[in-house]
Amino acid sequence: MLKLTILLLLSISAIFWWRHTQSWNFWHTNPTPTLQAKAPKNVSPSLKEIKEEIWEFPLGDKVVKAVMYQVGDYKQEVYFNMHDNENTCVDATKQIIQEFGGRFVELQHGGAREISFRINGVLYKVDPNRIYTYKGVEATLRNYGSYSAEAHEAVYQFGQALIAKILADAQMVVAMHNNFNTKTFSVYSFATGGVFDVDASDTFITNTMGSGDFFYVTTEQFFKFFKEKNINAVLQDNSNVTDDGSLAVYCGQQNIPYINCEAEHGHLTQQVEMLRAMQPLWATKNQK
Ligand SMILES: [Zn+2]
Repeated sequence: MLKLTILLLLSISAIFWWRHTQSWNFWHTNPTPTLQAKAPKNVSPSLKEIKEEIWEFPLGDKVVKAVMYQVGDYKQEVYFNMHDNENTCVDATKQIIQEFGGRFVELQHGGAREISFRINGVLYKVDPNRIYTYKGVEATLRNYGSYSAEAHEAVYQFGQALIAKILADAQMVVAMHNNFNTKTFSVYSFATGGVFDVDASDTFITNTMGSGDFFYVTTEQFFKFFKEKNINAVLQDNSNVTDDGSLAVYCGQQNIPYINCEAEHGHLTQQVEMLRAMQPLWATKNQK
């Protein structure tokens, strides 16, 4: 009887220990060698050293921070999150670089979608995904209410400095976004009759995924890749797309291979799966 009780107590302790280790959040702990040694092997066999750098980009009276995370060797792709209110994609990307290695740059500017700053006391606001072309900068400034030639120039220089640094060693970019899967923004928005129909030359929509979860790409090769894997995909029409100053438009103009990984807010599992599915692309490109 005593042996049985001891056995029971040991089993309960083991279950509690297991549950504790399952909720171990290795990302938010400093990955020192001590912590790595303590991390149970069944939770994170691939726990790797995370290199972190802070890059700073001045804009008016503000300094916008970009945090660069890197695990293992730097490959040709860079993941980039620019909307500070989209956080599922940040968690997904951190998980993916732990798993596969790679570089991830996260813009931090106060937790909002837009970046606000002042020049000569005047408040301006821009969407950080509308600042990569000269035309786009003017439109986004006017959209938020104040415009001046000075602000136009400052924002354009800021955008160019940002992409020059982010794309410095990269041959392609994976923009990381989250959306609310609304009637005005989902994969259907790019299909025939959708709000952004004109911007896309092809769409592939599967019924096995949510319509807020999709890839938006600038090359035929990427589009085919996702379509063959039965993953929602939109191919940007690089010649006819509206110049809204987005990174997708800039990359289309500059012939920089670009993938936008869109997932609904909170769809962490789905977005991680999407990023996992994408990994063979680097292997394909490396062979060329
Ligand atoms: Zn976004």
